Amino acid sequence: MSRKIAGPEIERLVQLLARLPGLGPRSSRKAVLALLKRRNDLLLPLSDALQLAIAKIAECPVCGNLDTVSPCSVCADPRRDPSLIVVVEEVGDLWALERANVVSAQYHVLGGHLSPLDGIGPERLNIPNLIARARSPDVKEILLALNATVEGQSTAHYISDQLQGIDVAVSRLAQGVPIGGELDYLDDGTLAAAFKARRKV
Ligand code: ZN
Repeated sequence: MSRKIAGPEIERLVQLLARLPGLGPRSSRKAVLALLKRRNDLLLPLSDALQLAIAKIAECPVCGNLDTVSPCSVCADPRRDPSLIVVVEEVGDLWALERANVVSAQYHVLGGHLSPLDGIGPERLNIPNLIARARSPDVKEILLALNATVEGQSTAHYISDQLQGIDVAVSRLAQGVPIGGELDYLDDGTLAAAFKARRKV
Protein backbone atom coordinates (compact mmCIF):
# COMPACT_ATOMS: atom_id res chain seq x y z
CA MET A 1 0.00 0.00 0.00
CA SER A 2 1.37 3.41 -0.90
CA ARG A 3 1.75 5.90 1.92
CA LYS A 4 -0.50 8.97 1.90
CA ILE A 5 1.60 12.13 1.63
CA ALA A 6 -0.97 14.80 0.77
CA GLY A 7 -4.53 15.64 1.77
CA PRO A 8 -7.49 14.99 -0.54
CA GLU A 9 -7.64 18.65 -1.66
CA ILE A 10 -4.08 18.53 -2.97
CA GLU A 11 -4.61 15.09 -4.51
CA ARG A 12 -7.68 16.41 -6.32
CA LEU A 13 -5.69 19.31 -7.78
CA VAL A 14 -3.01 16.89 -8.97
CA GLN A 15 -5.59 14.58 -10.57
CA LEU A 16 -7.39 17.44 -12.34
CA LEU A 17 -4.21 18.96 -13.75
CA ALA A 18 -3.00 15.52 -14.86
CA ARG A 19 -5.97 15.39 -17.27
CA LEU A 20 -4.52 18.27 -19.29
CA PRO A 21 -2.69 17.41 -22.52
CA GLY A 22 1.04 17.13 -22.00
CA LEU A 23 0.80 16.82 -18.19
CA GLY A 24 1.21 13.37 -16.62
CA PRO A 25 0.86 12.73 -12.86
CA ARG A 26 4.51 13.58 -12.28
CA SER A 27 4.54 17.00 -13.96
CA SER A 28 1.08 17.71 -12.56
CA ARG A 29 2.47 17.16 -9.02
CA LYS A 30 5.29 19.61 -9.83
CA ALA A 31 2.81 22.18 -11.15
CA VAL A 32 0.64 21.87 -8.03
CA LEU A 33 3.66 22.38 -5.78
CA ALA A 34 4.65 25.49 -7.76
CA LEU A 35 1.09 26.85 -7.48
CA LEU A 36 0.90 26.25 -3.73
CA LYS A 37 4.30 27.80 -3.10
CA ARG A 38 3.48 30.90 -5.14
CA ARG A 39 0.08 31.68 -3.67
CA ASN A 40 0.00 35.42 -4.37
CA ASP A 41 1.69 35.76 -7.73
CA LEU A 42 0.43 32.52 -9.32
CA LEU A 43 -2.34 30.65 -7.50
CA LEU A 44 -4.67 33.60 -6.85
CA PRO A 45 -4.28 35.24 -10.32
CA LEU A 46 -4.81 31.82 -11.94
CA SER A 47 -7.94 31.25 -9.89
CA ASP A 48 -9.25 34.70 -10.92
CA ALA A 49 -8.41 34.09 -14.59
CA LEU A 50 -10.22 30.72 -14.50
CA GLN A 51 -13.32 32.29 -12.90
CA LEU A 52 -13.31 34.98 -15.58
CA ALA A 53 -12.90 32.39 -18.34
CA ILE A 54 -15.90 30.44 -16.99
CA ALA A 55 -18.01 33.57 -16.83
CA LYS A 56 -17.04 35.21 -20.12
CA ILE A 57 -15.67 32.80 -22.72
CA ALA A 58 -18.15 31.00 -24.94
CA GLU A 59 -18.30 29.22 -28.29
CA CYS A 60 -19.16 31.49 -31.23
CA PRO A 61 -22.59 30.43 -32.59
CA VAL A 62 -21.45 31.20 -36.15
CA CYS A 63 -18.00 29.62 -36.47
CA GLY A 64 -17.27 27.66 -33.27
CA ASN A 65 -14.31 29.83 -32.21
CA LEU A 66 -13.87 30.68 -28.51
CA ASP A 67 -14.16 34.32 -27.48
CA THR A 68 -15.60 36.72 -24.91
CA VAL A 69 -17.91 38.34 -27.46
CA SER A 70 -20.66 36.74 -29.54
CA PRO A 71 -20.35 36.46 -32.50
CA CYS A 72 -16.59 36.22 -32.04
CA SER A 73 -14.21 39.03 -33.00
CA VAL A 74 -13.11 37.10 -36.12
CA CYS A 75 -16.70 36.78 -37.43
CA ALA A 76 -17.42 40.41 -36.53
CA ASP A 77 -14.35 41.83 -38.32
CA PRO A 78 -15.63 43.67 -41.45
CA ARG A 79 -12.16 43.75 -43.07
CA ARG A 80 -12.14 40.00 -43.61
CA ASP A 81 -12.96 38.43 -46.97
CA PRO A 82 -16.56 37.20 -46.66
CA SER A 83 -16.26 34.97 -49.74
CA LEU A 84 -13.77 32.47 -48.24
CA ILE A 85 -14.42 30.13 -45.28
CA VAL A 86 -11.39 28.29 -43.92
CA VAL A 87 -12.47 25.05 -42.19
CA VAL A 88 -10.27 23.77 -39.35
CA GLU A 89 -10.53 20.91 -36.85
CA GLU A 90 -9.80 22.79 -33.61
CA VAL A 91 -9.64 26.35 -32.27
CA GLY A 92 -5.86 25.84 -31.91
CA ASP A 93 -5.64 25.44 -35.70
CA LEU A 94 -7.47 28.75 -36.17
CA TRP A 95 -5.00 30.41 -33.79
CA ALA A 96 -2.05 28.90 -35.71
CA LEU A 97 -3.34 30.25 -39.05
CA GLU A 98 -3.98 33.67 -37.49
CA ARG A 99 -0.44 33.73 -36.01
CA ALA A 100 1.00 32.89 -39.42
CA ASN A 101 -1.06 35.78 -40.85
CA VAL A 102 -1.51 34.03 -44.19
CA VAL A 103 -5.19 34.63 -44.76
CA SER A 104 -7.83 37.20 -43.83
CA ALA A 105 -11.01 35.20 -44.22
CA GLN A 106 -13.87 33.65 -42.28
CA TYR A 107 -13.30 30.46 -40.29
CA HIS A 108 -15.30 27.42 -39.34
CA VAL A 109 -14.19 25.21 -36.42
CA LEU A 110 -15.46 21.61 -36.63
CA GLY A 111 -14.54 20.66 -33.07
CA GLY A 112 -12.55 17.56 -34.09
CA HIS A 113 -12.57 15.03 -36.91
CA LEU A 114 -14.61 11.99 -37.87
CA SER A 115 -13.45 8.92 -35.99
CA PRO A 116 -15.85 5.95 -36.27
CA LEU A 117 -13.72 3.85 -33.91
CA ASP A 118 -14.20 6.44 -31.13
CA GLY A 119 -17.89 6.84 -31.99
CA ILE A 120 -17.41 10.32 -33.46
CA GLY A 121 -19.80 10.64 -36.41
CA PRO A 122 -20.81 13.74 -38.40
CA GLU A 123 -23.55 14.60 -35.86
CA ARG A 124 -20.86 15.24 -33.21
CA LEU A 125 -19.08 17.83 -35.40
CA ASN A 126 -20.07 21.37 -36.35
CA ILE A 127 -20.88 20.31 -39.95
CA PRO A 128 -24.60 21.24 -40.47
CA ASN A 129 -23.74 24.88 -39.63
CA LEU A 130 -20.98 24.82 -42.23
CA ILE A 131 -23.31 23.51 -44.95
CA ALA A 132 -25.79 26.26 -44.06
CA ARG A 133 -23.06 28.92 -44.25
CA ALA A 134 -21.86 27.56 -47.61
CA ARG A 135 -25.32 28.24 -49.08
CA SER A 136 -24.98 31.98 -48.46
CA PRO A 137 -24.54 33.84 -51.79
CA ASP A 138 -21.56 35.74 -50.28
CA VAL A 139 -19.52 32.54 -49.94
CA LYS A 140 -17.52 31.52 -53.03
CA GLU A 141 -14.89 29.12 -51.64
CA ILE A 142 -14.58 26.60 -48.80
CA LEU A 143 -10.95 25.78 -47.95
CA LEU A 144 -10.65 22.51 -46.02
CA ALA A 145 -7.55 23.20 -43.86
CA LEU A 146 -7.76 19.87 -42.01
CA ASN A 147 -4.88 17.83 -40.62
CA ALA A 148 -2.97 15.63 -43.08
CA THR A 149 -3.94 12.55 -41.03
CA VAL A 150 -6.18 9.67 -42.11
CA GLU A 151 -9.03 11.07 -39.96
CA GLY A 152 -8.50 14.65 -41.17
CA GLN A 153 -8.55 13.58 -44.81
CA SER A 154 -11.61 11.34 -44.47
CA THR A 155 -13.39 14.22 -42.73
CA ALA A 156 -12.44 16.46 -45.69
CA HIS A 157 -13.88 13.86 -48.11
CA TYR A 158 -17.10 13.64 -46.14
CA ILE A 159 -17.52 17.44 -46.12
CA SER A 160 -16.80 17.83 -49.84
CA ASP A 161 -19.48 15.17 -50.51
CA GLN A 162 -21.94 17.15 -48.39
CA LEU A 163 -21.09 20.32 -50.33
CA GLN A 164 -21.95 18.70 -53.67
CA GLY A 165 -24.68 20.64 -55.43
CA ILE A 166 -23.92 23.88 -53.57
CA ASP A 167 -22.43 26.63 -55.71
CA VAL A 168 -19.03 26.98 -53.98
CA ALA A 169 -15.47 26.00 -54.92
CA VAL A 170 -14.00 23.45 -52.49
CA SER A 171 -10.23 23.47 -52.00
CA ARG A 172 -7.71 22.01 -49.56
CA LEU A 173 -4.20 22.85 -48.39
CA ALA A 174 -1.29 21.66 -50.54
CA GLN A 175 0.76 18.74 -49.24
CA GLY A 176 4.43 18.19 -49.91
CA VAL A 177 7.99 19.12 -49.05
CA PRO A 178 8.04 21.48 -46.02
CA ILE A 179 10.00 24.77 -46.14
CA GLY A 180 13.59 23.92 -45.21
CA GLY A 181 12.88 20.19 -45.61
CA GLU A 182 15.52 17.81 -46.99
CA LEU A 183 14.24 15.01 -49.25
CA ASP A 184 16.43 12.43 -47.53
CA TYR A 185 14.57 12.98 -44.23
CA LEU A 186 10.98 12.98 -45.50
CA ASP A 187 8.66 10.06 -44.82
CA ASP A 188 7.31 8.09 -47.81
CA GLY A 189 3.79 9.55 -47.52
CA THR A 190 5.04 13.15 -47.68
CA LEU A 191 7.31 12.37 -50.63
CA ALA A 192 4.49 10.62 -52.51
CA ALA A 193 2.14 13.59 -51.87
CA ALA A 194 4.82 16.04 -53.05
CA PHE A 195 5.28 14.08 -56.30
CA LYS A 196 1.53 13.97 -56.92
CA ALA A 197 1.23 17.72 -56.31
CA ARG A 198 4.20 18.69 -58.51
CA ARG A 199 3.82 21.76 -60.70
CA LYS A 200 5.55 23.50 -63.59
CA VAL A 201 8.40 25.91 -62.76
ZN1 ZN B 1 -17.04 33.31 -34.97
